[in-house]
Amino acid sequence: MVTLAAVVAATAVIATIRHMPANAGDVSTISALVLMIALGAIVKARLRIRSTTFSFAWVETAIVLGLALAPPPWVILSTGIGIACVSLVNRLTAIKTAFGIAKHTLVAGGATLVIMLLGQRWPPDGLLNHLVLLGAVYLAAAVLDDLLAIPVIALASGTRIVRQFRNHLDLRIAGFAVRFIVAALTLIILRADQSLLLAVPPLVLSLHLAYSARIRGRTEQQAWQRLARTTDALNVVDLDTVLTTAVTQATELFSADEVEIELRDGDRAVRGGTGGITFDGPIGKPTDVDGTVVPTPLEGHDRTVDVGVLRLRFRGPVQLSEREQYTLRTFASALCTAVRNAQAYAELARVANEHAYAATHDALTGLANRRHLLDEGTNQLSTRHADGVTALVLIDLNHFKEVNDTLGHAAGDQVLVQVADRLRDAAQASDLVARLGGDEFAVLLRGLPAPAVAAHRAETLLAALHEPFELDGMRISVEASGGISVAPSTGGMTELLRRADVAMYQAKRAGQRISTYATTRDTADLGRLTLGGDLPRAVADHEFIVNFQPIVDLGTGEVTSAEALARWRHPTHGMIDPLRFLEAVERSGLLPAFAEAILDQALIAATTWRDAGFDIPVAVNVSPRSLLDARFPGSVLARLRAHDLPADRLVLELTETLTLSQLDVVDRVLSRLRDEGVRLALDDFGTGYSSLSLLSRIPVHELKIDRSFVTTMESSAEAAAVIRSTLDLGRSLNLAVVAEGVESEPQRRALWELGCVAGQGHLFARPVPAGTLLAAMQRGSGGRPGTLVAPLHNAGAVIRLSQTRRQPGRARLPHLPA
Ligand code: C2E
Ligand code: CA
Ligand code: CA
Repeated sequence: MVTLAAVVAATAVIATIRHMPANAGDVSTISALVLMIALGAIVKARLRIRSTTFSFAWVETAIVLGLALAPPPWVILSTGIGIACVSLVNRLTAIKTAFGIAKHTLVAGGATLVIMLLGQRWPPDGLLNHLVLLGAVYLAAAVLDDLLAIPVIALASGTRIVRQFRNHLDLRIAGFAVRFIVAALTLIILRADQSLLLAVPPLVLSLHLAYSARIRGRTEQQAWQRLARTTDALNVVDLDTVLTTAVTQATELFSADEVEIELRDGDRAVRGGTGGITFDGPIGKPTDVDGTVVPTPLEGHDRTVDVGVLRLRFRGPVQLSEREQYTLRTFASALCTAVRNAQAYAELARVANEHAYAATHDALTGLANRRHLLDEGTNQLSTRHADGVTALVLIDLNHFKEVNDTLGHAAGDQVLVQVADRLRDAAQASDLVARLGGDEFAVLLRGLPAPAVAAHRAETLLAALHEPFELDGMRISVEASGGISVAPSTGGMTELLRRADVAMYQAKRAGQRISTYATTRDTADLGRLTLGGDLPRAVADHEFIVNFQPIVDLGTGEVTSAEALARWRHPTHGMIDPLRFLEAVERSGLLPAFAEAILDQALIAATTWRDAGFDIPVAVNVSPRSLLDARFPGSVLARLRAHDLPADRLVLELTETLTLSQLDVVDRVLSRLRDEGVRLALDDFGTGYSSLSLLSRIPVHELKIDRSFVTTMESSAEAAAVIRSTLDLGRSLNLAVVAEGVESEPQRRALWELGCVAGQGHLFARPVPAGTLLAAMQRGSGGRPGTLVAPLHNAGAVIRLSQTRRQPGRARLPHLPA
């Protein structure tokens, strides 16, 4: 522009020198021209964009008027000089001065060019001609003015040029018309009577005032509308959207170079401009926009809440108008509300999310919970074209309660967390690992290539739990049982879970680590899952009863004691075996009440038998859990006293467990009972943990050889060896030994010949009610009351060793020491 303007100015100078040299008389004309241009430049409407204020002035009116009165080259030069003077007085920067001079010189040059193109003699004759020409020249000047100024404004404000052209178009056209009319009127006045020229300045001034008031009103109205739109746009719940909207809108609203929002909550600062967010990070990072900073606190109407600060930054010196300051406060207040709403909403959403997570996850281990597993499983099973086979592995820790009870719940929790971690690691990406509660875990296997793969995967999962767990320096091994079920065709997830549960239960009972669900074995377990809820009623209504199974002298067939075996006479399920409900009882917290009920019935039976002349001890099974209860001995002894039975009429059968072998409290409980005279028997001997080391710590009176050895003793040398060494042990420690599960005469005889004196099993009697057992004893075998079977030999004929060697039928038996 400056170069072009210089060319135009140079042309004007040459034209002046060549064709219309100014003489002394023309100096006044030129001075008048300069003055007119300067006046036109001073009287103007202002518009601030960023730190730059743009003005709409009367310069082009002055130029056009000048062209009507003086030779164009003079006007061109006067325009440059006039604008230069005003710029100097206003102390504009060099670039603005240069731009102003260049632009107006070009406008004057352009107007001159139009006059030349129209080829008219200038000034024309005839008023109409004159006015038409004036209009054309004026139009050219105005258009040129906009063409030169608007792109520069658009560039400076970062808005689109087209938008700037449309901006205030109506006002600009109106202004153009007004100024044209003023120019035309002035021209007419000049032609008519020069003295009337005095009326022109007041006319111009009043028109100008009206015009600039209009502009201001319009700008203000637009600003309010924009503020209203902006505060509306802030009405969103997402904090990021609020901040982005606020930054971009504030940049436009206040025509700032940068807008910054600082939030106290969360140490967050956000900066940006019309283009969006340019910085989002911690408070205090420097910005490269320096100049004027206008800070406003983000506070509510009542000034009580203060969420942060809003800062407007301008690259140059800026003074906000009163209206802008008010807008700023309103905007800040709206932004404060929006930020608080968004923060509150975010908090709500977070809480809701947390709830959703908590509702589907186990708080301790972070695994999915039962509900989530059921939902996911249901989803999986209902997906019609789901790839592959769906299966469920149920994993239950054995003896976990003992860890909890003895090492404390914190230790128990640690074990559960470690179990969860291991299962998670052992599982594959498509598996869903869940904790169903307590020590029960489940893994949903999805997309298996074949049902058989489930067992392999279950093995992997259980193997992960094999290594002992590290707990504050201790190493604890936790055994687990697993049940597998493969997606049923009907019944959905509940059925899948039930089947896995049945399978796991079968595994536990069979002493296997893992069992896969098989429909054929299911019937017996159908009711198990529903039994849990019935327990309190069962205890209250005395649904637990006791059957008695005699223990007999293998040689004579005489009943030497009887074992109390619990039964549940369920109102709808009928008689239920203890293995099906014991675990539930232990889990339920009803164990003490249950144990007491059984003990009571056992002691009552013993007194009845004693009163009938059979003074035999009664054996009662004790849950390992009871032995952890320090009040247990007191309660047992109290029951004995209540029934007036000597302590040695009671045998407590203990099962070997981790607990029994390791814990002091168990030692104390058992010592107390033993010291009071209660007899102790070790049940299922040979199947449990470190039997021998246990024996050295807990002095029991009796060992009960587990049924499994008796059952297989005739076919398995190993089983026979266990029996033999147990008998040896009994002899050397002076303990009574009872063989369990004697079902046949050959077994009875074999045991007898191995040196076993006492036995229990179906051969002699099944577990029966106390009265039935009493009647059987009273009846006796072969007219001998108190016996249930015939004696092995005639009294005194103790020739078993030689007999063994002579009877070929028992040649399979292991060789006995002489
Ligand atoms: P246990 O103490 O080993 O009891 C012996 C089990 O073997 C009984 O099963 C009995 O019916 C069964 N049995 C006896 N003779 C034979 C035989 O010749 N052949 C076969 N195949 N089985 C025989 P039951 O009554 O089902 O009891 C199972 C287990 O439940 C018991 O094993 C015991 O550990 C537990 N239990 C029973 N009653 C109670 C109780 O009142 N309290 C506690 N804590 N546990 C109990
Ligand atoms: Ca027993
Ligand atoms: Ca047993």
